[in-house]
Amino acid sequence: MTDLSQPVTALAGVGMHTAQRLAKLGIHVIQDLLFHLPSRYENRTQVCPIGALQAGVSALIRAKVEFTDVLLKGRRSLICRISDGTGFMDLRFFHFTASQQHTLKPGVFISCFAEVRYGYAGLEMVHPEYSVIASLDTPVGEVGLTPVYPLTEGLNQGVLRKVIKQALVLCSNQPQLLPDWIPTSILQDLHYPDLITAIQTLHSPGDSLADALQQGDTAATKRLAFEELLAHHLVLRLARHKSNAWQAPVFSGNQSLTVRFLRSLPFTLTGAQQRVIADISHDFQKAHPMMRLVQGDVGSGKTIVAAYAALLALAAGYQVAVMAPTELLAEQHFKNFSAWFSIFDINVVFLTGQLKGAARQQVLQQLQDNTANVVVGTHALFQERVVFSRLGLVIIDEQHRFGVHQRLALREKGQHNTLRPHQLVMTATPIPRTLAMLQYSDLDISIIDELPPGRTPIVTRVISAERRDEVIDRINNWVENKRQVYWVCTLIEESDALQAEAAENTAQRLALLLPKVHVGLLHGRMKNAEKNAVMEAFKSHQLDLLVATTVIEVGVDVPNASLMVIENPERLGLSQLHQLRGRVGRGTNDSYCVLMYQAPLSETARQRLGILRDSHDGFVIAEKDLQLRGPGEIMGIRQTGAVQFKIADLCRDADLLDNVQQVGAQLFKQAPHAIQPLCDRWLGATTDYSEV
Ligand code: ADP
Ligand code: MG
Repeated sequence: MTDLSQPVTALAGVGMHTAQRLAKLGIHVIQDLLFHLPSRYENRTQVCPIGALQAGVSALIRAKVEFTDVLLKGRRSLICRISDGTGFMDLRFFHFTASQQHTLKPGVFISCFAEVRYGYAGLEMVHPEYSVIASLDTPVGEVGLTPVYPLTEGLNQGVLRKVIKQALVLCSNQPQLLPDWIPTSILQDLHYPDLITAIQTLHSPGDSLADALQQGDTAATKRLAFEELLAHHLVLRLARHKSNAWQAPVFSGNQSLTVRFLRSLPFTLTGAQQRVIADISHDFQKAHPMMRLVQGDVGSGKTIVAAYAALLALAAGYQVAVMAPTELLAEQHFKNFSAWFSIFDINVVFLTGQLKGAARQQVLQQLQDNTANVVVGTHALFQERVVFSRLGLVIIDEQHRFGVHQRLALREKGQHNTLRPHQLVMTATPIPRTLAMLQYSDLDISIIDELPPGRTPIVTRVISAERRDEVIDRINNWVENKRQVYWVCTLIEESDALQAEAAENTAQRLALLLPKVHVGLLHGRMKNAEKNAVMEAFKSHQLDLLVATTVIEVGVDVPNASLMVIENPERLGLSQLHQLRGRVGRGTNDSYCVLMYQAPLSETARQRLGILRDSHDGFVIAEKDLQLRGPGEIMGIRQTGAVQFKIADLCRDADLLDNVQQVGAQLFKQAPHAIQPLCDRWLGATTDYSEV
């Protein structure tokens, strides 16, 4: 036995059968066993008298067998009556063998452990763990707490404990098998135990740790959580580090296009937009790929910034790819960029998965022979065999819809000769500082913290669906005043079909109730051409009311639509609601957002909607949502690349993050060799993006 990367079958007693079960738990090699930590612990050091037992509590009992019998009535079972002088109880087995029946014969002393519950004849234990002992006074064999591991079908605690124990013995005999990649001096500063000690503690702790362990509040848990978070942080830093070694084209600031572009706009840039543009221009003058995230609230004007960046690349003779998360948004960008760049001799093309046949061939050909300068599309842009002639800049809009891993994978593509394109990532979803470290450490961040002037803040109302009639009346008035309205239907189900159906029904009902109003419908199941036709009709005010699913969350821009009704807002995340709400308040009119919830509302839901009513600051909203709901929800279950942790819990372990960042920086100086193995230990093969 030489290392922990051997398959679990290298251990005694682990055959193919057990290995397959373990694989279901994500355990493949011996090292995985060490990191398969108990979900809770049981205290089996104290014997409990039967007379003092309570239902619902797990307990260790020692008692004498009074009789054992097979019950044929009802479900066939083996009943074993035991007593200890303070009372009696039954052990019940639905699966049993003849030898078991024989072992549990009258007069034998046993020790058993299980949860106690009410049975037919008083208290009982079902399928307890038990062993025969010499007498009621036999000393308790167990010391410390007994670990209880997450299981899968066909695997029991006994087997798992035995196998894990083997792995533990292995690494305590040969500690060099499990290197501690965090330098000792750092561990001492943080008062953390070394890796093997931490792992041993968690698998076989002393009973004094019981409470602290249940709360994840031991140095051992903290150390492992810390290491895990550190690994996630390091992966991103490593990506950044690598990209500094890559070459990229220099766009030296040829202003010929940008000057004319700014003159053609009906407004001047905000100070914040100008600052971000300066950051980007500065990056472009270095010979390394820019990796920059532009964060700006909805409506802050990120698209103009992207267009400006594109023009710097175009002036240097390079191509630009603009990627959006949905077809609808891609289409909007295509129209915007085409319109803005129509004053130049720039060919803007559109490419999504839906473009087929000769039209597609033509676009691909133009990208390859450099007659297309800008391509706008969905992620199909990079999934397929699109060959660029001179790709200089990749712009990714609304990045939160793409996961971290997708972004890193993308980085490996688009290389030509030795040059890699610059990357500009834009998001409206403010990520709280704590999470940014685990999401964006590979990026430099610029923030557009100012909205274009003249916007009136959106007034948000939280009202019950019982007042639906009033809301519908209001829509009537609104439309009479020549203004437009969004009505957003939400469903928790991810199913496009169900969402579409809900929106269709709502549109029909509203059309009946509002005979003078032109009602349109927009959902994810419609064909692109249909969607575009509806959007155009709404933009040109042929439609007054647009009933939509959350597909309109990003990018849609119709300034005259200044009232939005969101049904069942309690189903959505606050950041998502904030995004949706950002569809109104784009013109100079008063704007309203009505959050029409389904009563009764839970206390948390009430608080959450209150946050949205009281704040317009995406950062504040995201921070508060984080406190109320926890990071899993914020980072989005819908997000494909959502970070999954084995041990860390961002709510519990938020206090570790400052140190994670600091130690991350320190490792690059002090122990660079440790970084890759540390990442591999926690993230496995996913850290290799070259193959994605
Ligand atoms: P987002 O940051 O949400 O992507 P957009 O780029 O779509 O925002 O811009 C929102 C609206 O604001 C657009 O209609 C855009 O033309 C307009 N806009 C952008 N910058 C300015 C500015 N400096 N002054 C006035 N309007 C602006
Ligand atoms: Mg946008």
